[in-house]
Amino acid sequence: MPVRPPRLVVIGGGPGGNQAATAAARLGADVTIVERDVIGGAAHLWDCIPSKAMIATGNAMSFMHRSHGMGLGELTAAVDVDALKRRIADIEEHLNRSVVDLLTSQGVTIVRGTGRLLDAHTVAVDTGGAGNGDVHVEADMIVLSTGTRPRIPPWAKPDGDRILSTRQAYPPSAIPEHLIVVGSGVTGVEFVHMFRSFGSRVSLIVSRQQVLPDRDPEVAAALEEDFLRRGVTLLKGARAEAIEREGEGVAVKCDDGRVARGSHALLAIGSVPNSDGLGLEAAGVEVDERGFIPISDHCQSNVKHIYVAGDLSGKVPLSSVAAMQGRKIAEHAMGLHTRQHRHLDYDKAAQAIFTEPEIAEVGVHEAEAFALGRKIRVTKVPFAANAKALVNDDPRGFVKILSDPYTGVVLGGSIVGSHAAELISVVALAVTAGLRLGDLMDSLLVHPTLSESLADAAD
Ligand SMILES: Cc1cc2nc3c(=O)[nH]c(=O)nc-3n(C[C@H](O)[C@H](O)[C@H](O)COP(=O)(O)OP(=O)(O)OC[C@H]3O[C@@H](n4cnc5c(N)ncnc54)[C@H](O)[C@@H]3O)c2cc1C
Repeated sequence: MPVRPPRLVVIGGGPGGNQAATAAARLGADVTIVERDVIGGAAHLWDCIPSKAMIATGNAMSFMHRSHGMGLGELTAAVDVDALKRRIADIEEHLNRSVVDLLTSQGVTIVRGTGRLLDAHTVAVDTGGAGNGDVHVEADMIVLSTGTRPRIPPWAKPDGDRILSTRQAYPPSAIPEHLIVVGSGVTGVEFVHMFRSFGSRVSLIVSRQQVLPDRDPEVAAALEEDFLRRGVTLLKGARAEAIEREGEGVAVKCDDGRVARGSHALLAIGSVPNSDGLGLEAAGVEVDERGFIPISDHCQSNVKHIYVAGDLSGKVPLSSVAAMQGRKIAEHAMGLHTRQHRHLDYDKAAQAIFTEPEIAEVGVHEAEAFALGRKIRVTKVPFAANAKALVNDDPRGFVKILSDPYTGVVLGGSIVGSHAAELISVVALAVTAGLRLGDLMDSLLVHPTLSESLADAAD
């Protein structure tokens, strides 16, 4: 009798879900993916792609402001909001089409609708047809990858007009005259950079004494310095506790009595998991106190054949991590983990912040290592010593490499400066592959390039 392929059902078409689906189909599974909105996920529709598209436009504006340094006269430009909207829509459409094409080329069945677990082996999909849960799909294995949504506190009501959630800012109907950003984590500072580049006045509410509170203080200080140079107002040690409409503007009230007034406010204070309404109880899947689903090294929930990929797992909330989890799940579900499988090491995820200067980090952080009393060697070079940085008229920032003082093995790195997100790839490879400083130093790199600072920092 022919053996039928295992049936895998994925709920959620973001990077976690679509990568799990494509990889599992490639390995021979019979795969169905359920998506209620857009294949490609929030990553394409709301998060990574629109934000980076707007930042790229902001970077072009910012370059024009510095054009005299390149031997050009003064260049000026103004943001065309409609053109910007079209640009974002075109990129999204292109990317979504490529993901759909990839899934269908691998024979994945796409079901449009909202999925939920009826039990541990059945997914019900509300396709908007006959009624709630009108399609039932049987599964041997299930992947939950429904992502997160912006956290909206009880003291603020985004109206899409003057008070914005991150999903209402791509782009707003007009560029804000004075934007108050609440939240100084990665998302918050990227919005500060974006709108400041567009010419908005920007104030940032920083609940602690440092922007990017979880990051290397030297890295955060470099960003703060640049924000201040560009005229961004930082309200440090202030926690927002109310946002109200005030005539044609908004007032953000802070717990220390300060009130920040502007034309618009934007909330960037984290995310909550899309685990409600997923039927987790019916399938016996446990969540933690915040609603995320804890996972094993193989991304399994407490119910072994129900896997979790992406932000819903409460691990590092990055598209790249979600996609890698998806691929690892496919390998495990299809029995490949016994051969070449390597567990995903979340501590080695390269991360970038697309501000100006750009910031990228991987592996061990200097401050963290000192706090733990761990012996490390830190070597650092400024981009001011790099020929290409001078040629580009952008010598801001530095490269810092952390290594084991005894073996020379590269443990981590921080880069602040233009193209940091691209440059960190080399350090990420070194960290993952256990390369030594000598390997970086002995690499014959192109001259003049920013990468030469990597070899210099290793020296
Ligand atoms: C402003 C912002 C910028 C970001 N920029 C970056 C960046 O530059 N780089 C980076 O790596 N990460 C970035 N991130 C993080 C990144 O967007 C997430 O880590 C990534 O989207 C997680 O992927 P995912 O597959 O878990 O979920 P998502 O991309 O959120 O996809 C989940 C999908 O599930 C669907 N869904 C939910 N519930 C159901 C249901 N019941 N039935 C059917 N479908 C359902 C949703 O419609 C959605 O399409 C950013 C985040 C934000 C907020």
